[in-house]
Amino acid sequence: MVSAIFKNRLFQEPGAEREFVQRNHRRKTKSRVFFMYAAPIAYAAHVILDFFVAGDHATLFILLRLCLVCPGMMFVAYLFNHHHRRFGTDNLICAYLMLPTLNVIYMCAVVEGMAADVYPFGVMIILYCCSAFILPSFRFMVRYSVVFLALFWAVFPYSAISFEAAVAHGFFQIMGTAVNIIGVYFLELTERRQHANEINLEEMISDLETSERNIRDLYHEAKKADRAKGEFLAVVSHELRTPMNAIIGFSEIISSEMLGKVQPVQYREYAQHIHSSGQQLLHIINDILDLSRAEMNKIEFVHREFDLSTAVRAAIVSCRENAREAGVSILQVEPFLHDVSVTGDEARIVQALVNIIGNGIKFSNTGGQVEVCTAFTVDGGMKLLVTDYGIGISPEDVEQIRKPFQQAESAFSRNTGGLGLGLAICSIIAEAHGGKLNIESTLGERTCVSLELPEVLVRAPKALDDTPDIGLAEIA
Ligand code: ADP
Repeated sequence: MVSAIFKNRLFQEPGAEREFVQRNHRRKTKSRVFFMYAAPIAYAAHVILDFFVAGDHATLFILLRLCLVCPGMMFVAYLFNHHHRRFGTDNLICAYLMLPTLNVIYMCAVVEGMAADVYPFGVMIILYCCSAFILPSFRFMVRYSVVFLALFWAVFPYSAISFEAAVAHGFFQIMGTAVNIIGVYFLELTERRQHANEINLEEMISDLETSERNIRDLYHEAKKADRAKGEFLAVVSHELRTPMNAIIGFSEIISSEMLGKVQPVQYREYAQHIHSSGQQLLHIINDILDLSRAEMNKIEFVHREFDLSTAVRAAIVSCRENAREAGVSILQVEPFLHDVSVTGDEARIVQALVNIIGNGIKFSNTGGQVEVCTAFTVDGGMKLLVTDYGIGISPEDVEQIRKPFQQAESAFSRNTGGLGLGLAICSIIAEAHGGKLNIESTLGERTCVSLELPEVLVRAPKALDDTPDIGLAEIA
């Protein structure tokens, strides 16, 4: 414990201790060197004291100060600034301080009369300046103070200092030295803690940099793998489409008995099943192909101006068969924009609308209804809204279901099929037009999905938004 306090150590490893000493030295070098060059000037100024107080010794004292001690201090300061690695920091500080120290002690020993009581003040000045400006290490400060005071009191019996002055100097020297040592101890402790924190911080930064590099590598790997997956899906989907079209085409020919009666009659039903299953499969394949193309930025959008209401009706018509089978009606409701043109990829917008209406049908109860309307948005764009009153979506699922392959909890109990790609593709289509897909839903009550398009794509005759409300129009 005592040795730990004496060494003032936080770093048990010699390497870490060396690192601390070097870094600490680098931090203090400028102020130390400045003081080391400035102190001899202050020391030289004391010739005034010698001149008035030292009596017969004045000339010798002045010569010693100006010709030996001050130049010596300057020289050591030079060595400290330029060659501290070679000679060692503590050694040079020691040599630097010993010059005025020995000089003061010598002067204290030989000076006579009243001056003998005055010169010991020099001891205190050197000690204070050392701790305040040279900022030595704690170990050095302890050793130096002990040596300095021991030398001073060793010559005390030969000096002409009065007993009272000796008691006063002794008291101040002990108190001053104790304060110096404690001060330097806590200063160094703080420096060591600061150094330890810096090292920790540097380690953390380097760890973070390594992690960042690893994450970046992993990210690139993942991107590469993702691209490979996308390409694989695109190729597979593309290859599956050709035989799928053959299956759908031939099963349709058989089920519609285009080339003559099919016997027995069950074969015709089987062909119908093959046909509808084939279409479902083709739909899924097309979705996967779209998604992988979108991920590779390979979807091409053909923008041209088209009539909005015609596109909406086309979407509704293509969902009619599904709606009939599910016992759900599709209603075109007000507000509904007429004579509005939109610039965009008509086929893709119809595809998005078919997906959204298809979901409305899928997740409605038999006898339910899906409402389709179009309206202007407050910022001059327009939106296509599809509302159903089916199972709804919980708030937690609303954001999730926009992502590919995500389905809401509520949909599982329905077992409605689907891969969870439809809304992801709708989002891609909306974003490719500079618009967005909004989903609002109340679980068990209603779901409203809207596809918004920006103002720049919409061209409408004036005052169209004042279209009178003409009620519900069932078209499916
Ligand atoms: P799919 O319907 O093929 O699974 P979608 O991306 O179109 O894929 O939809 C993702 C999920 O979002 C659906 O599985 C369903 O859980 C939920 N969902 C979408 N539309 C509705 C809706 N109108 N009502 C209730 N849930 C819906």
